Amino acid sequence: MTKLGAPELEADEPSWHDYANCLGVDPDLFFPERGASTKEAKEVCRGCVVREDCLEYALQNGEKFGIWGGMSERERRRIRRQRALARAAASAEASG
Ligand code: SF4
Repeated sequence: MTKLGAPELEADEPSWHDYANCLGVDPDLFFPERGASTKEAKEVCRGCVVREDCLEYALQNGEKFGIWGGMSERERRRIRRQRALARAAASAEASG
């Protein structure tokens, strides 16, 4: 998502936000009420060329709410958990 939580950006420096498919789309779509459908938002994300940047931004910044990179909070939590496990396994392997 572009408007909420986006960091201050250099004015003349294009960033992934500038290419977001959700520019101009109602932000409420990306922050549905609990239990409401995320289908429409995910549909917008499906055709977005900066989907990976968006998802990575949300993962790095611990965004807890909304659809980012075509993924819900729960889906992002799963990725964060998987990455944490992979990091732990890599560090255990490195330390012998
Ligand atoms: S992936 Fe979805 S939320 Fe992220 S910038 Fe693209 S359209 Fe917006």
